[in-house]
Amino acid sequence: MPTEFRNEALVDFSQAPNRAAMAKAIELVQSQLGRHYPLVIGGKRIDTKDRFKSVNPAQPDELVGTVAKADTTLADQAISEAEKAFGWWKKWEPAARARILWRAAAAMRRRKFEFSAWLVFEAGKSWAEADADTAEAIDFLEFYGREAIRWGADQGATRYPGEDNHVFYIPLGVGIAIPPWNFPLAIMAGMTTAAAVAGNTVVLKPASVTPVIAAKFVELLEESGMPAGVVNFLPGSGGAIGDHLTQHPRTRFISFTGSKEVGLRIWELASKRSPGQMWLKRVIAEMGGKDAILVDETADLDAAAEGIVASAFGFQGQKCSACSRAIVVRSVYKEVLDRVVERAKKIPVGPPRDPMNSMGPVIDEAAFRKIGEYIEVGKTEGRLVLGGEKWGGTGYFIPPAIVADVKPSARIHCEEIFGPVLAVLEARDFEHGLEIVNSTEYGLTGALFSRDRARLERARQEFHCGNLYFNRKCTGALVDVHPFGGFNMSGTDSKAGGRDYLGLFLQMKSVCERL
Ligand code: NAP
Repeated sequence: MPTEFRNEALVDFSQAPNRAAMAKAIELVQSQLGRHYPLVIGGKRIDTKDRFKSVNPAQPDELVGTVAKADTTLADQAISEAEKAFGWWKKWEPAARARILWRAAAAMRRRKFEFSAWLVFEAGKSWAEADADTAEAIDFLEFYGREAIRWGADQGATRYPGEDNHVFYIPLGVGIAIPPWNFPLAIMAGMTTAAAVAGNTVVLKPASVTPVIAAKFVELLEESGMPAGVVNFLPGSGGAIGDHLTQHPRTRFISFTGSKEVGLRIWELASKRSPGQMWLKRVIAEMGGKDAILVDETADLDAAAEGIVASAFGFQGQKCSACSRAIVVRSVYKEVLDRVVERAKKIPVGPPRDPMNSMGPVIDEAAFRKIGEYIEVGKTEGRLVLGGEKWGGTGYFIPPAIVADVKPSARIHCEEIFGPVLAVLEARDFEHGLEIVNSTEYGLTGALFSRDRARLERARQEFHCGNLYFNRKCTGALVDVHPFGGFNMSGTDSKAGGRDYLGLFLQMKSVCERL
């Protein structure tokens, strides 16, 4: 039996040896920038003429690497190889599959700083954010390995006279894993390995702006003993091969994390039967958020301001769990707003390879432009009390922006911006605040700062989101501590890192033998 699951400890960068180790890893990764990564299909490296260029968002003229770009013919090949591998991989004992994940976890733990350094270069993560991403990836490997054994056991059935009954789970088949760029290691690794450890084979199509970290992870899986064909690495543009992968008749399930728009498209396309398709496709779609923190007049206002700032601006607000709406009860509105602005002003923004900078760039030029446009919209929908200035240097940097006095109908209150832009709204009272909280189409994370027991209990029932926190920030979910996934247009509530998760990649079989 494996040891009990424990979350990976976060690195304390106030300790000189840890700082030195990270600086060394940054140098190592710097020396490896610019390399090329081919596709991996059925264990074979396949190159293409067409390639992605992955760049450092803090310094876009710095090439992180180039990656081959699959077309639909290569997508067909990847599905075919995955299907062949499914024939024997599904018969492996869950414990044997789990051991590969644990070896990968151990290897990643040994190379923790290196993986985090890739995240600094490719995703623009600060040291602490990169470390949290790597730690979560390790957690997924450890946890899903254990879960595979639990789900792999005979599930038991009520005894019935004259019959011998058994109930157990079997895998589904070939799955497509389509992760986003914002947790390019943890979410990508979690989605891929949860499906694989349950006995499925996977075609992994990484996000196009962060393919190098995915290539590094696939290499790590191979080194850890993942057999050829089980995880196929298929970088390619979502627009060009995404629909094809979803609609392919041999695709059994699609595990997607990303925007509402793409999630809905996959949901719709997967529901239509393609010629030759023998099953109903399963879709796991984890989508966007418009997460709120509600503060009432009984709250510890400093803690509330701190929680809002950490949730709104950590990783530049590019977390699906980020707080993009602070809803504050009238009697403490001004005080909370002032404290939030005061704190946000002090956040050091700059290239994340420097540990002094806790906010780095946004992911790419398209995000930079889109967020800038939302700040302009914000100026017409409220009072811009912080941010909005042009960034002088190179890189896609956007300092924290705060728009006060926003109305619930405003676009910046309803639409996901996915950047460091916080809308602050005044509520008449707690009741009104709760109404505003539940007024968007999303329902991913949220937090309430209050000391009122009755209100906390009420929010427990009525604050409608998948991950609710009291008197703390609304980001930073931990594997098997805060299973993660949202309601409404935030997705299928798959609860990644939770004990139901592996069941999404399995189907139950009941076998009865007459005695
Ligand atoms: P995105 O634009 O929807 O892309 C996500 C993935 O889908 C990428 O790999 C993308 O490929 C691919 N894709 C694009 N078009 C496709 C198509 N037609 N068919 C199949 N795949 C397609 O999202 P993103 O910008 O990467 O990520 C940010 C979004 O993810 C935000 O909305 C955020 O809230 C959400 N998110 C949600 C969670 C959660 O757990 N709920 C967690 C993290 C992020 P390309 O890169 O090639 O376009």
